[in-house]
Amino acid sequence: MSGNEQKYIDEAFDTNWIAPLGKNVNEFEKEMAQYTGSAGAAVLSSGTAAIHLALDLLGVRYGDVVFCSSLTFVASANPIYYLGGEPVFIDSENETWNMSPDALARAMKDAQAKGKLPKAVVIVNLFGQSAKMDELLAICNAYAVPVIEDAAESLGSTYKGKQSGTFGTFGVYSFNGNKIITTSGGGMLVSDDVEKLDRARFLATQAREKFRHYEHLTVGYNYRMSNILAGIGRAQLEVLDDRVKARRAVFARYEKALGRIAGITFMPELEGTYSNRWLTAIEVNSEITGVTANELMDALEAENIEARPVWKPLHMQPLFNGCKFYPHADDDIVSERLFARGICLPSGSNMTLKEQERVIQVISDKLS
Ligand SMILES: *Cc1c(COP(=O)(O)O)cnc(C)c1O
Repeated sequence: MSGNEQKYIDEAFDTNWIAPLGKNVNEFEKEMAQYTGSAGAAVLSSGTAAIHLALDLLGVRYGDVVFCSSLTFVASANPIYYLGGEPVFIDSENETWNMSPDALARAMKDAQAKGKLPKAVVIVNLFGQSAKMDELLAICNAYAVPVIEDAAESLGSTYKGKQSGTFGTFGVYSFNGNKIITTSGGGMLVSDDVEKLDRARFLATQAREKFRHYEHLTVGYNYRMSNILAGIGRAQLEVLDDRVKARRAVFARYEKALGRIAGITFMPELEGTYSNRWLTAIEVNSEITGVTANELMDALEAENIEARPVWKPLHMQPLFNGCKFYPHADDDIVSERLFARGICLPSGSNMTLKEQERVIQVISDKLS
């Protein structure tokens, strides 16, 4: 927390707006729209809820196909199942670790040949790094398939000067406890289509029709954020740029200290993009280091330092057994390689120099 959160919470208490509506909700939406440069924003109870509503608004129904990045957290794809949809997973490429335009192009071509294009493509910006949006959007536009940008990890990042999360029909952010700013739990849907955002708010409040009595035509959800949590979000947004700077400084220190070790490579930052470096991720080539990613994580764990593997690709998850997957190339399955070799290092914005030096020391010792 930054310290200003209490001010907005007190305001909610003083005015007795302890509900999923009120001034903080309205202002947080306005401030997020302004920050991201979107026409509007709808604040929700989670990033997952935002993905769910985006898919629903794009008309995903039982049996519909949705393309999704494979190298991501399960929440990117779970809502496809909520709606009875059928996920098809797209591999990563090497320059961003995000969705491969080559694999996407092949998947679209196949889908068209079968006469069943996807209803939407969920493009994830992993660990803060933007995907190759120009290339990916060109493909989606050529087939007139809408994009949902899962920017849960990339709030504050930019691609060619434009805020991450503003490239698709919908953009999704998360304020879960582990994200770069947090409301303890929460999410946001942004779009330039303010009518669709109105519809999102309607669906998020049980789809109650405009009657005096309770009248319902559609299935709705209870997905709005409370006015208290929105107050936390407003104060957090004020320090977002500082948090991004802090995370980038953490990344820079790791890279300076460990970047020259043969066999260790850092997650790239594509030219023209600015990553919030939510997590510092490295790739360990054990053929060169003689130490696997797992052995390195063991060494860190022995020193009570938590490090985690890169997300397990969703096409490898038992939950998605039988779903189709398009690799970057037949002899280059990028997401599987990154899962086998990738490590996310401790990257908190509040990490002290001393703490970071300890992490660096353990890694240097293990690899020397
Ligand atoms: C955190 C996260 C989500 C889900 O957000 P919640 O607010 O936790 O529901 C979705 N996608 C990605 C890539 C995430 O990292």
